[in-house]
Amino acid sequence: MKVDDTMNIDKEINRRIVIIGAGESGAGAAALAARQGFEVFVSDAGAIRPEYRELMDRYHVLYEEGGHTMEMILSADEIIKSPGIPDTAPVIRAIHDAQIPVISEIEFAARYTGAKKICITGSNGKTTTASLVCYMMQQAGMRVGLAGNVGKSFALQVAEENYDFYVIELSSFQLEGMYRFKADIAILLNITPDHLDRYDYSFQKYADAKMRILQNMTREEHFIFCSNDEITIRELENIVLAAQALPFSDEEKHSPGAYVEDGMFNIDFHNDIFSMPVGDLSLQGRHNIYNSMAAGIAGRVLEIRKEYIRMALTTFPGVEHRLERVLKIRDVEYINDSKATNVNSAWYALESMKTPVVWIAGGTDKGNDYSLLLGPVKEKVHTLICLGRDNSKLMKSFGELAPQCVEVHSMADAVRMAYKLSRPGDTVLLSPACASFDLFHNYEDRGQQFKQCVREL
Ligand code: ADP
Repeated sequence: MKVDDTMNIDKEINRRIVIIGAGESGAGAAALAARQGFEVFVSDAGAIRPEYRELMDRYHVLYEEGGHTMEMILSADEIIKSPGIPDTAPVIRAIHDAQIPVISEIEFAARYTGAKKICITGSNGKTTTASLVCYMMQQAGMRVGLAGNVGKSFALQVAEENYDFYVIELSSFQLEGMYRFKADIAILLNITPDHLDRYDYSFQKYADAKMRILQNMTREEHFIFCSNDEITIRELENIVLAAQALPFSDEEKHSPGAYVEDGMFNIDFHNDIFSMPVGDLSLQGRHNIYNSMAAGIAGRVLEIRKEYIRMALTTFPGVEHRLERVLKIRDVEYINDSKATNVNSAWYALESMKTPVVWIAGGTDKGNDYSLLLGPVKEKVHTLICLGRDNSKLMKSFGELAPQCVEVHSMADAVRMAYKLSRPGDTVLLSPACASFDLFHNYEDRGQQFKQCVREL
């Protein structure tokens, strides 16, 4: 059984906290729980990274690694589960059977801060938008921490910093363990299929998790969303939205909200319009116009002066591994979009390409449906380089569309092939549409290797 609002999760009563998983969020939650005077125990089935062991030692937290001691776990009053651990893990099933409330690190940490929370979720664009909102607030001189899936955990920042604001990137896994949490500003960028392996292959369950970002919001709070996103709109039809709605779109005009008209980017808030040319945005591509609109609306709600909003939107340097320009060699541009780990993000990358493309794709397939990509591939890709342990599905999906299709098994070979097969004026785009775990440690490793190989050309 899962915790719900009727169960008592009062911090005064629950004195023993057990944390499952000692990564960034688990170790951070342990530090905060220790600081708040709880009896804390952390259990990780795998090895704990040295920096997290050091952090927990600093807070005198008891922990174990390489397995779970169930008596130590089932004596908890409340459990904090790291987002990476699925509900189907035997340890979590046992916890549910014992009817112990399970929450996420974000839910826990929010109890101990009065800071305003700007929360961002969606299938794609979270890190980019969260970083941009944070950058804008910093430009305006606000004291703000960036938390969630990026950088230091929210809990550790609540334990050690004293920010007035937090910009929090929320994955569906974190949202699932949130019950009383309330965002002051919630941004939902989009809902497209991802991580379905964790949701019994039910897209509805995944969408439900994303919609939890709205829970507990009232008329006092603001909700920013994309009115072009079909699933978001469909989900909104099924609920009564209490928060103030601030939609954005590049196809229809919104007041209040954000829209694009005659090459101008506009944000209308209380009938006062902020305007700037789309071409001046530092982040280019349709998806980044969305991200910029979402961030800009948040800036207006936070009453940031227009000059700071403009400065942030024109100078934001972008985030590593997201459509990141690497080098131009022999008039060929190399772009690292290693973070494109699903079909939708690769679609936006291809869509934003203005030249013929040599596309490097492939990796661990998460049940991908590539049909969405057939159009852009046919239109723009002249060479597909399949980089994965098993490339058969990619080759089958695109082999007949792209004039050239080659298969490689290392980044060095992929970049060498791209160099050989590209022509002046082309773009070589690494935007894999797949996870990276077959040949790389993670998407960062994949992106770093790409950049290194390009520099060595
Ligand atoms: P997330 O944190 O949600 O994974 P990122 O900002 O890290 O999102 O971007 C992940 C990938 O998605 C990148 O390849 C990026 O180019 C692409 N992307 C960014 N914003 C959007 C968006 N609004 N819609 C679709 N794809 C996007």
